[in-house]
Parts: sequence; structure tokens; C-alpha cells
Amino acid sequence: MARPILAIVGRPNVGKSTIFNRIIGDRLAIVEDKPGVTRDRLYGIGEWLDREFSVIDTGGIEVEGEDQIMKSVRVQAELAIEEADVIIFMVDAKAGVTSADQEVAQLLFRSRKPVVLAVNKVDNIQRQDEIYEFYSLGFGDPIGISGAHGIGIGDMLEAAAAHFPDHADEEYGEEVIKVALIGRPNVGKSSLVNAILGEDRVIVSDQAGTTRDAIDTPFELDDQKYVIIDTAGMRKRGKVYENTEKYSVMRAMKAIERADVVLVVINGEEGIIEQDKHIAGYAHEAGKAAIFVVNKWDVVEKDDKTMHQFTQKIRDHFLFMTYAPVLYVSARTTQRVQKLLPMVNQVAEQHTMRVQTHVLNDVVSDAVMFNPPPTDKGKRLRINYATQVSVKPPTFVFFVNEPDMMHFSYERYLENKIRGAFGFEGTPIRLFTRRKS
Ligand code: GDP
Ligand code: GDP
Repeated sequence: MARPILAIVGRPNVGKSTIFNRIIGDRLAIVEDKPGVTRDRLYGIGEWLDREFSVIDTGGIEVEGEDQIMKSVRVQAELAIEEADVIIFMVDAKAGVTSADQEVAQLLFRSRKPVVLAVNKVDNIQRQDEIYEFYSLGFGDPIGISGAHGIGIGDMLEAAAAHFPDHADEEYGEEVIKVALIGRPNVGKSSLVNAILGEDRVIVSDQAGTTRDAIDTPFELDDQKYVIIDTAGMRKRGKVYENTEKYSVMRAMKAIERADVVLVVINGEEGIIEQDKHIAGYAHEAGKAAIFVVNKWDVVEKDDKTMHQFTQKIRDHFLFMTYAPVLYVSARTTQRVQKLLPMVNQVAEQHTMRVQTHVLNDVVSDAVMFNPPPTDKGKRLRINYATQVSVKPPTFVFFVNEPDMMHFSYERYLENKIRGAFGFEGTPIRLFTRRKS
């Protein structure tokens, strides 16, 4: 199920990143515990009444050159308009309506996307009066909030959630494997798509699937249906922001949300850079199956150790994704491209795998026996029962006496034991603990 995308737009200093951090709150803390996940993030996952959504802080998107503040604000608004389901337009009660606010308002107006107007820095009741002047922006009732004090965030999210697309909006049938190719510009994503579709036995449908502004490519191989998500987004569009890192992250994020399996494409010639990590990190957080595809292997000078060394580098850089298999290909010579779809099938299967409760509990009992859970002040964590509650990604709940005593390291240990027993190659798995004695 694709999460709706919420974007926060506004001129600098109105408090976008403060609010962003409030929204993703506890989750950030969880993610940051894990090594290898970036800190300077502008996307995250939030939750409102049990519905998850993705949130983007467009404030991180900057453009260089003259008049750069206005230009950046404009580009941020354009991106939000293109990618988001709902936009939070943020302004500042202390500053009042500024000309930059008016410019953003104009852009948002024309887009016809749902907009929620949030007036930040309403830190106390006196300031509540200052929100009225923002009616002049033309987005209906402004919602007073305070990022600093955590006031009004719930009202704001409630207003935004009212515009989320319906749960029932499934784009493709369950039997279709949705594949997204993500990676920096020029790693060879479009070339790879062409190489996959060019394989002898692949049958491409003449009708391209179209959803909103994205164009997808459906095809079949050996009676298995696939769709490549957002093929259009891989084409060069020549806009100013096309080559900025943040832009590709945003575009990728949306494709990832819509996919089952994410191919993280890396340029074998250039190696791994920070940006590759940002994008892959999102696939992990979003709970998608993933494969590392190292492309341009034809131009890499190599001996019998090169592949092994490169894989080691991937493991070092993507510590949080050791489950993802690595494939070395060349879109140009089509070397090993025919291995890609079988690998996609395999990780898609693992992504939807269910394990039987009694077998799971045998594995957990063995794990606990071999390495007892942590203790604290004479009390020991006791795991009473475990069960798999969902797939895509496989998600497990552990019923325990004291959820707070489940440490990250022990959770890691349990995850490794589960993987040792069942595999789950290519998919993240999630573990939750609940109190039940
Ligand atoms: P951004 O540039 O829009 O992302 O804004 P930031 O989140 O970086 O915030 C800009 C400044 O406003 C920082 O100094 C924040 O501490 C301050 N700020 C954010 N939210 C509030 C608020 O609710 N009340 C007040 N008084 N200051 C705030
Ligand atoms: P995208 O921006 O990720 O979609 O990348 P493209 O598919 O447009 O490829 C960028 C450049 O890399 C083009 O000049 C391609 O011809 C080249 N390229 C793509 N795949 C390969 C490959 O496997 N080997 C080599 N040598 N060049 C490649």
C-alpha cells in the first residue's frame, strides 16, 4: 500500500524542519539508532490515527545562483506540487504575510493540489489573533501551530489527512510485481529498463499504465506480470532541478512508495557515494524488497577479486541492508541482465512470505535458550509468544512482560535468528514488542 505523500512548503525560517522533526518524532529516534542511516534527511515517515504517510521537508532543497532564496522557494513549491498528495503551506505568525509567502501562494493556487495553511510560532494565546491576516492568502482557515511547543500539530495533521487518497486506490492487481529502479542520474536506469524490456522472451504491453503524472511500463515474462514504476521519471526532463540530489531523492521516494521491489542501481565505474545511501535508506525504511544492481560492469577494470571487494564495500556502506542481494550487470552488453527478473521474483516471494506460528515460536525459544534476553534491576525480559502479523514487509510481534527492556541489540539478535531459520533474503523485516504477560 503506497503511503500518501505530505510536503511542507514555505520560505526559509518559518519552522518547516522543526515541524518535520515533530511529525516524524519517535520514528527518527528509532532509525537513528541504526548505523548508516543519514541524519540530514528531508523525508521521513509519520503516522496519524494508524495511517502512515511520507513527509517531505522541501526546505532542504536549495538552488544556487542569483536571487537564490526566491528561486529555491519556487523550486520547492514546484516539487511539492508535482510529487505530493497534500501540501502544508507554512507561514510565520511573528513575521506576518511577506511577499515570499504571496509568491508561494500563487504557485500553490495554480496547482489545484489540496493545501493546508499552517501558521507557525503561535506560541501562546495572544498570538492566536495574529493568524487572521493569513486569510488574505486565500487558503481558507489558517491553523495556528507552534513547532517549539508542540501546539496544534494534531489539528494540522487532521486537516491534511482529510485529503489523503482513499485506501482503496490500488493501482495494480496483487499478482503484478511492481519494480522501481532508483539511483543517481546517469547510473544507467533507463538503459537498464531498455535492456530488460529488450530480452527475447519479455512481452511488453503496448498500453503504458498512467497514474497521475507518472508513466509506468507493464510487461510479462513466463506468465509473471510486472510493471516498471515511473519510467517517465527516469527520462531527462531538463528542468533546473533535474540534476540536484534532493530532487532525485524526492522523485525516487515516490517511485519507492509505489513499488514492491526496488532495484538500487549503482554505477560500478564510480563506486558508492553518499547520495546512493540516502536513496537506499528510504527503500529500507519504506519496507520494500531490494536488490543492489551494480551497472556498467563492462567498463570496470577487474580481476578475480574485484566483485568480492565491491560487494564488501556495499556491505560496509549499507550496513542496514545486508539482506539485499547484489548483482553485477552491464546494460550496454546486457551481461547478466537476464538474471535480474528471476532475482526480482525471488525477493518478491520472500517479501510476501508467511511463516507458521508454531515454527516461529520454536525458533524464538531456541534463540532465547541460547542467548537469554537482557535483565534490568533484577528483572528479565520474558518473551511469551511471537507471531507474524503481516507481509510486505514481513512483520512480527513479540508479546513480552516489559517492552522497554527489548534492546536494539537483542532485537537484532532475534532478527538474525529469524533470518537464519527462514531466509527472508532481499526483504527488510520488522519486529515490534507488545506487553502481555
Ligand atoms: P525552516 O527554515 O522553515 O526549516 O525553519 P526552522 O525549522 O529551521 O526554524 C527557523 C527558526 O524558527 C528556528 O530558530 C526555530 O527555532 C524557530 N521556530 C520554529 N518553530 C517555532 C515556534 O513554534 N515558535 C517560535 N517562537 N520559534 C520557532
Ligand atoms: P539514468 O540517468 O540513470 O537513466 O542513466 P542512462 O540510462 O541515461 O545512462 C547514462 C549513461 O550511461 C548513458 O550514456 C549510457 O549509455 C551509459 N550507460 C548505461 N548503462 C551502461 C553500461 O552498462 N555500460 C556502460 N559502459 N555505459 C552505460
